[in-house]
Amino acid sequence: MSKLYVVGIGPGGKENMTFRAKEVIDNSDAIVGYTPYIDYLGDWVDGKEVFSTGMRGEIERCKQAIDLVKEGKTTSIISTGDAGLYGMAGPILELAKDIEVEVVPGVTAAFSAASELGSPIMHDYSSISLSDLMTPLDVIYKRVENAAAADFVIALYNPRSKGRPDYLEHSIELVRKYRSLDTPIGLVKDSGRPGTQVKITTVGDINYEDVDMLTVVIIGNSNTYIEAGKMITPRGYNIK
Ligand code: SAH
Repeated sequence: MSKLYVVGIGPGGKENMTFRAKEVIDNSDAIVGYTPYIDYLGDWVDGKEVFSTGMRGEIERCKQAIDLVKEGKTTSIISTGDAGLYGMAGPILELAKDIEVEVVPGVTAAFSAASELGSPIMHDYSSISLSDLMTPLDVIYKRVENAAAADFVIALYNPRSKGRPDYLEHSIELVRKYRSLDTPIGLVKDSGRPGTQVKITTVGDINYEDVDMLTVVIIGNSNTYIEAGKMITPRGYNIK
């Protein structure tokens, strides 16, 4: 029986992919995904049918993957990070009613970035995408404000693009209502990929120009601090 795998391939490098991801890609006849993500798989896709498309073809890609399975081909549709977070797992399960689907987890950008920053998450956190392609902007800002008010560590995905250069700035202004200006912020661009850039700044000092769509932003909670170049959110044990 052919099957559809929805595969989170992690932030980029093969070393951060799971064995299961590698295994299901090996088992697949066809691979579907956004072109740069297919490139991360390198020679793993040799000899397979590869269907890669541009950024906006997400639903088209899902339908194509489902059609391939119906033609009898075991297929992997790939997302970066985890496919269950701003990825393909949801749309596939919404669309695929009569084929077998397995979701394969991956390391999401926030946790890959967290490992490069130190231990900024550690405790309760919320993940918010600043993309308003599918979520109204007022809902996004309400979530940012409520997460800040509740003292969650906040991971911001899709933080800043040319089309919406000021959403991040407005979000940080909302955070400032609840957190001091010296609250640490971690910015990681191209986490887990060649050329990773890691920067630790603060709510008061953030330079918005340092942030783009290849960056994930992690805002500390009221206990987060910086020590020896690491961003640390205390777990809560009485260590010191
Ligand atoms: N499913 C993905 C998220 C896709 S949304 C995951 O679980 O990671 C796309 C956003 O994710 C980007 O705008 C960026 O904010 C973040 N992102 C994905 N990969 C990244 C990486 N390697 N480094 C930094 N940010 C990344």
